[in-house]
This record gives sequence, structure tokens and C-alpha cells, in this order.
Amino acid sequence: MIIDTHIHLDDERYRDDIDAVLKKARENGVERFIIPGADASTIGRALELAEKYDDVYFAIGIHPYDLDGFDTLDFEAYIHHPKCVAIGECGLDYYRLEGTDEEKAAEKAAQKRIFTAQIILAKKYKKPLIIHIRDASRDSKEILLEMGAGEVGGVLHCYNADEELLSLADDNFYFGIGGVVTFKNAKKLVNVLPKIPKEKLLIETDGPYLTPHPHRGKRNEPLYTTLVADKMSELLNIDVDKIADLTTINAQKLFDIK
Ligand SMILES: [Zn+2]
Ligand SMILES: [Zn+2]
Repeated sequence: MIIDTHIHLDDERYRDDIDAVLKKARENGVERFIIPGADASTIGRALELAEKYDDVYFAIGIHPYDLDGFDTLDFEAYIHHPKCVAIGECGLDYYRLEGTDEEKAAEKAAQKRIFTAQIILAKKYKKPLIIHIRDASRDSKEILLEMGAGEVGGVLHCYNADEELLSLADDNFYFGIGGVVTFKNAKKLVNVLPKIPKEKLLIETDGPYLTPHPHRGKRNEPLYTTLVADKMSELLNIDVDKIADLTTINAQKLFDIK
């Protein structure tokens, strides 16, 4: 069995055929699905799916692209739900910063404030973190360590292959590997993959985004985690069933699911 640890099933691009998407995945051994929180406006849909399907779980969180949502989202209303397995995705994303230097600095400060607030919630409610980092490795790592986030741990989802983050494996952090590993230009990730401790590897799609080769350009879906597992098997020289087993055990441990 494979667990898709990061799949935005609440995205409207799955609305018309969600049953078929899940059925196809299950028939191919992808049997658990975790919907990360991202945008406060779709949390209702995530909850609805988690209540409808036994094998769907959700997380509650605010993405650095949706900082305004932080004030409107009532974390406490969701966090006690039996299918709520994590806080996130939250983190820092400096990739699309715009404006003057002052505006960029203000945006960074706001991202840090809201990331920090979510780490505090994770520690308060003893939930692991789903962490989104883009072009912000140093600041993210510093915040995670300063805040003692390793107490609850979490996943660096869509791990960006930055070696600076590797040491977080020793602080109870996992590394989410997705479709990027199948891309022809994924040299950096291909090289760093063997350096990640096996007991810290997870598989994800980040669907509907980051569709693996050879389906690039189409909507990503949980079924395609099998392509990620195949590629990891090839790169790590480990039998694909073993890859599925070890990443499943890792996900079950981190998110406390069966
Ligand atoms: Zn993300
Ligand atoms: Zn995501």
C-alpha cells in the first residue's frame, strides 16, 4: 500500500470525478489520502471528503500564499476532529515576493508570524506539521529549530533538495517526495535522495500540481504516486514493494493513522 501524504482533493479540479479518482488509486494500491489545508475557503470541502471516505484524512492550515485566511480560520473548530491529522501546510515561500524592499520585508515578516503561530498550535494540540518551503530554507530551518518544532515533527513537503535542510531528519522531520523526482531536470533531487534517511521518506503527489513524467501537463492524481515509487525504487536500488512498505510505515508513524 502507498499513502499519498499530500493531495489537494478539495481542489475544484477533482469535483466532477472524485469517486473515480479515488477508485483508480485504490485499485493500484494507493489506499490512504491526506488533504493538506491551504486555503481557508476550501476547508469545508476537505472536511466533507474526510467524513465521506474512510481512507481520506485532512489537515488544517494556512499556506503562505493565503495569509489573510489566518484570521478567519477557526483552527479549534477542526483540530479535534478524528480525521484531522496535522497542522499545515504552513511555512515560508519567498519565490513570488513582489514590490519594494520594504514591501518584501513586510511580507516576509508576515509569513514568519503566521508560520510561527501555526507551530505554536501544532505543539499545543500535539499534531505534526505539514511544511511548505520555497526559496526560504534558512529562515524556515531557523524558525523550526528555535520554536522546538521537532517536539511534534512534520514533513517538509515537496522537499526542494536543499542539503541545508537534511539535518532536520535528526529533529523528527520527514521529506515528502513527489512527481519532481521523475522530471528530466531533477538532478539535484536525484543526487540528494540517497542521503535522506530511509525512515524519513514519504510519498506525495501535491495534486493537482506537479504531475510526474510521462503525464506532465495533465492534472496530477493519487494514482501517480506509483510512478514516484517506481522512480524512487530505481534511484535507491530498493524493490518497489519495499519502497511502498517503508514510506507507508513512515507516514503511519508521523500522522498516527492505520
Ligand atoms: Zn506546498
Ligand atoms: Zn500543497
